[in-house]
Amino acid sequence: MISVEEALEKILSYIEVLEPERKPILDCLGQVLAEDVYSTIDIPPLDNSAMDGYALRAEDTRGAGESSARYLAVIGEVAAGSMPKKKVRPGTAIRIMTGAPLPEGADAVVMFEDTDEVNRKSPRGDLSQIGVLCQAKKGSNVRCKGEDISRGELALKKGTLLRPSEIGVLASLGHSTALVIRRPVVAILATGDELVGVDQPLAPGQIYDSNTYTIAAEVSRYGGIPRILGIGRDSVQSLTEKIDEGLDADMLITSGGVSKGDYDIVKDVLAERGEIGFWTVCMKPGKPLAFGLIKRTKARKKREVPHLGLPGNPVSSMITFEQFARPAILKMMGKKTIAKPTIRAIIHDNIANTDGRRVFARVTVTKRSGQYHASLTGPQGSGILMSMAKANGLVVIPESSKGAKAGDTVEVQMLDWGEEQGEAATPPVVSIVGKSQSGKTLLMERLIGEFKKRGYKVATVKHSHGDMEIDHSGKDSWRFSQAGSDAVCVSSPDKLAFIKKLDRELNVEEILSIIGSEFDLILVEGFKKSRIPKIEVHRKELGDDLLCSPEELSAIVTDGSLDTLVADSCKLPVFRWSDTVAIADFIEKSFVSNSRGSVL
Ligand code: AMP
Ligand code: MG
Repeated sequence: MISVEEALEKILSYIEVLEPERKPILDCLGQVLAEDVYSTIDIPPLDNSAMDGYALRAEDTRGAGESSARYLAVIGEVAAGSMPKKKVRPGTAIRIMTGAPLPEGADAVVMFEDTDEVNRKSPRGDLSQIGVLCQAKKGSNVRCKGEDISRGELALKKGTLLRPSEIGVLASLGHSTALVIRRPVVAILATGDELVGVDQPLAPGQIYDSNTYTIAAEVSRYGGIPRILGIGRDSVQSLTEKIDEGLDADMLITSGGVSKGDYDIVKDVLAERGEIGFWTVCMKPGKPLAFGLIKRTKARKKREVPHLGLPGNPVSSMITFEQFARPAILKMMGKKTIAKPTIRAIIHDNIANTDGRRVFARVTVTKRSGQYHASLTGPQGSGILMSMAKANGLVVIPESSKGAKAGDTVEVQMLDWGEEQGEAATPPVVSIVGKSQSGKTLLMERLIGEFKKRGYKVATVKHSHGDMEIDHSGKDSWRFSQAGSDAVCVSSPDKLAFIKKLDRELNVEEILSIIGSEFDLILVEGFKKSRIPKIEVHRKELGDDLLCSPEELSAIVTDGSLDTLVADSCKLPVFRWSDTVAIADFIEKSFVSNSRGSVL
């Protein structure tokens, strides 16, 4: 059996980013920019007004106020799209609309609401003079030439995902087309003698082919172009013909025919056409999976087509699609963020893990009072497609866990969230654990320094057993809290501290949800019982044994004294305590690269 990560890594190692194409900007939504876009113009092109009001010289409004109007002669008007015909001279003003170029001589705009124009009865009568009711500062309500994007500036970098805002930026630069990584064409083939197309009557023993449609819809959802090949029968000839039809696609996805019962046919057909691996992936549902490269018959640009053989059961095929096909499609499209966003939620049902596989359970996730809750969507059989239809998330029970009990906090992959949303929602987190005096804090300090050097915005969480040093007696914050305040927030121009009384200790997930999403990495010290990834610091003087069991750890850091036998039996990466760079590299690769790593 191979792990989900191993399977994904192998698949992605055969997947390449596709070539770019140039097309109209509106057709590029959700695609990745394949060129740097520099601006050849200033945006805005000229200094202009941010308000409807009067363009004037700030100097002429000195001393103006509600009861001391400064009167200026109005010498003209300028609307957006036209150029001012006159100059503003001392004692004069020009009526101006939002977006209109600022007349020469003017250095500020006062909005209508700050003039006596609004007090005048309608019709507003003689507008040859205006009373200004506030003192304007130089530059107020003026948008400066080039303040959005200046000429020559790199406006959009190669590799940027084009969302509506980036498409707007392209338009504002006068681009009607963009060079983007093209969308992959994904050929989809259902296999099975029992399958019937949705427009056919059902005979006894037959079922409608639903996988074609779920897979095609998933392909579209993630930006690919589905090419439906139809239903291949469980015969060499039928499968061969169908597969041939799909070979000019960028990827072929089949469903069914990879489980023990009937995979021989698929295997024979595929083995003849290229390299194929039949894997047993340590996951449930979705254990059998096939992956390979099929040779194309005709000479084409690329010689081989990646083929992903998903299991036939409708839920298994969807879940394996999510875990393996979706990342492959995103990689082909040049996307940088391919991990499905996950959250932590309280589970309301028991979920057993009977045979040490990674369980993906279908749940409905809701949010109440800032906390996510998850409930199973009913029977979890791999053929019960309604369990997927009712779900908006997949609880992930690790292979090392015996399962989750109602009330536990679990990890949930959010099926309907975009990958980028996950990046914002949950910064990667890793905890440094170890016995007292093992050197955790010093390692934390060094890692913080190392990640700062690498340009990360780092947050840290420290577990404290007793009083917190920060809540000093005598300080105002302490006095407010002594007086009975349940929470005290102290804010200064460059720092914020929030101290809240608790009636129970928060778990690390609850703490992480308070920290928020603006950080690139959260380093935690302690919380050995939490389920976040953990690295244990081992020191000989404190005993040979480890604090956590190896299954709970991602790596071990040692002062060099870790028994090699112990280290080998753990099968975990082992780092020297002094090698901060290697430890940081490991953290980056294991916990950060999923969400930040570029594939371009
Ligand atoms: P297989 O992996 O081919 O052994 O199929 C496993 C189960 O999934 C069987 O019950 C099939 O009938 C069902 N199945 C396979 N392909 C499809 C499909 N395209 N649509 C719906 N059910 C399918
Ligand atoms: Mg079958």
